[in-house]
Amino acid sequence: MSDTPVIGHYIGGQAQDAGERFSPVFNPATGAVQARVALAGQKTVDEAVASALKAFPGWSEQSALRRARVMFKFKELLDRHHAELAQIITREHGKVLADAMGEVTRGIEIVEYACGAPSLLKTDFSDNIGGGIDNWNLRQPLGVCAGVTPFNFPVMVPLWMIPIALIAGNCFILKPSERDPSASLLLARLLTEAGLPKGVFNVVQGDKSAVDGLLQHPHIEAISFVGSTPIAQYIHQQASARGKRVQALGGAKNHMIVMPDADLEQAADALIGAAYGSAGERCMAISIAVAVGEVADELIARLLPRIDRLKVGNGLEGDSDMGPLVTAEHQARVEGFIGQGVAQGAQLLVDGRGFKVPGAEQGFFVGATLFDQVTPEMSIYREEIFGPVLGIVRVPDFASAVALINAHEFGNGVSCFTRDGGVARAFARSIKVGMVGINVPIPVPMAWHSFGGWKRSLFGDHHAYGEEGLRFYSRYKSVMQRWPESIAKGPEFSMPTAK
Ligand code: NAD
Repeated sequence: MSDTPVIGHYIGGQAQDAGERFSPVFNPATGAVQARVALAGQKTVDEAVASALKAFPGWSEQSALRRARVMFKFKELLDRHHAELAQIITREHGKVLADAMGEVTRGIEIVEYACGAPSLLKTDFSDNIGGGIDNWNLRQPLGVCAGVTPFNFPVMVPLWMIPIALIAGNCFILKPSERDPSASLLLARLLTEAGLPKGVFNVVQGDKSAVDGLLQHPHIEAISFVGSTPIAQYIHQQASARGKRVQALGGAKNHMIVMPDADLEQAADALIGAAYGSAGERCMAISIAVAVGEVADELIARLLPRIDRLKVGNGLEGDSDMGPLVTAEHQARVEGFIGQGVAQGAQLLVDGRGFKVPGAEQGFFVGATLFDQVTPEMSIYREEIFGPVLGIVRVPDFASAVALINAHEFGNGVSCFTRDGGVARAFARSIKVGMVGINVPIPVPMAWHSFGGWKRSLFGDHHAYGEEGLRFYSRYKSVMQRWPESIAKGPEFSMPTAK
């Protein structure tokens, strides 16, 4: 392994491949090790923080317009490197190229939003609240912020954080997933090329040690995390205990209610895409269909031929709908869940275990899997599988569907397919989930709204990007001012009120 390419860090505007420990990076479609990624220890984390701290005074004093200009240039460069970024994603993550192109597009949209920095950072001013006094507010940068991101969106999720943190005047350290770390380095290079001063954005590769290094560092003011729920909870606790601002987005188990009046052709298409797209490795993937009334059999009759037609293969070649899972370990975990479903009494209609792609027998593939008769106590219902496994739960009516979903520990995304406006309205208002779709299977909010779940899908107060992201990455300050000619003579001892 020592002669495989090394994927390193990016600190102070320069690539750095120093590392004491390394971790293999696979091509999931072939199972081959294609590189090794350096794993930072405290020394590298300290260097990145020192570089960011040095850059902070200059960057935070730049005008919002100048920061926006860097974003405009960054957006132009991302457009130019769109296909290259998608190729990098597919090579290390495994998702099919068209899906990777879409991921990059959703990331670019956040950069486009951030190009509005002067307007986004504009604040409120109250003229003459009394006695010649004016009152206004500022949104000031926090300092050095860190982001820790998951493997499943190696471009989009970092771009949920970076543009917003930067336009607010912060410096940023990204710790990407060690499973698909290369895209972060291209983002870093493009930011430098866009004119971002050295040290404002840094990448530290690594695992738990790097994350702990960031958590413990006294000069990291805020941490944004996206990943699984146990780690999200850990990050939230550790960061909060040290007085850091933290938002930690966790795992999911997303349901789609199919009402008896739904267009079942549309619902089946939506389920196939939302359950099996990206091999189910999406935090907004639908993994449970809640079939209301007598709808289940008809729905299954429409799902089976669609599953049969799914093309599974190397995402870089041909016209596959679905690629491999990210690692052999994850493949084994997903297959383990399918075994548990069978053991716990669910009815396995399509079994994706042992799936082989001709010519890529060592790839980490699991075929599309479908269970019927799933019940709430089964582990395939309770836990996030993060693979191409769809379960059907049968419920008698809409109220039972809502009660089922509201009792689940996760609350990231949810969808309801219906033609009934009353049902749709009641669903949107009563469901305890952060992102709701009505006849929309994957309701990922646009860049100018904000992304986040409820319950154990998010720890912290702010959702990601959009207005909530801007609030997270800035500190609110209120300023009151008057000038000598309007100051009344003598001290005042009563509570000041507007006059
Ligand atoms: P993960 O939790 O294993 O890893 C996420 C990040 O945490 C990585 O950078 C990893 O290096 C780091 N990490 C791993 N173990 C750690 C530890 N013990 N201490 C500190 N840091 C650690 O998640 P993953 O497998 O990369 O991604 C899949 C998960 O992410 C799924 O649960 C998915 O639902 C979730 N996710 C959630 C959202 C959301 O917006 N809610 C979005 C994407 C992914």
